[in-house]
Amino acid sequence: MTGFWNADAPDGQPVRLTYVSTAAPGGTAEFILRDPCGRVIGRLRFRACHECRTGRILDLWVCDMWQRQGLGRGLVRSLFAHRRGYRWNTTLQSRPGRAFFAAMTRETTLSLPHGGPLCPHLMGWLRRTWRRLLHAY
Ligand SMILES: [Zn+2]
Repeated sequence: MTGFWNADAPDGQPVRLTYVSTAAPGGTAEFILRDPCGRVIGRLRFRACHECRTGRILDLWVCDMWQRQGLGRGLVRSLFAHRRGYRWNTTLQSRPGRAFFAAMTRETTLSLPHGGPLCPHLMGWLRRTWRRLLHAY
């Protein structure tokens, strides 16, 4: 599934936001931001459980040139709008990551703690991945 719409654009240039989802329920999905030339300039990867209405932000990245223009916030806001009413958490956060998610929590009043998956389905996927990795070595 792919959709297009314009995010808040710095300098009036249209930035394109694409939503990509894997076919498997609970699989990794992502929002990708592209600049007017089509280069990837930001990405938010997440997994969500439809049944429990919980989700987990795996990774949030905005390239250096486009930072501090609200694109990271735009990505998180798009995610919250896309999966309204879900509870979220994040993987382990770096220091700038913690400050960013604390600011997002204040802005959206949605709590974004870091820690383990919020439901057994997402946890199960993690365990299966571990098992696969362990068998591979
Ligand atoms: Zn679940």
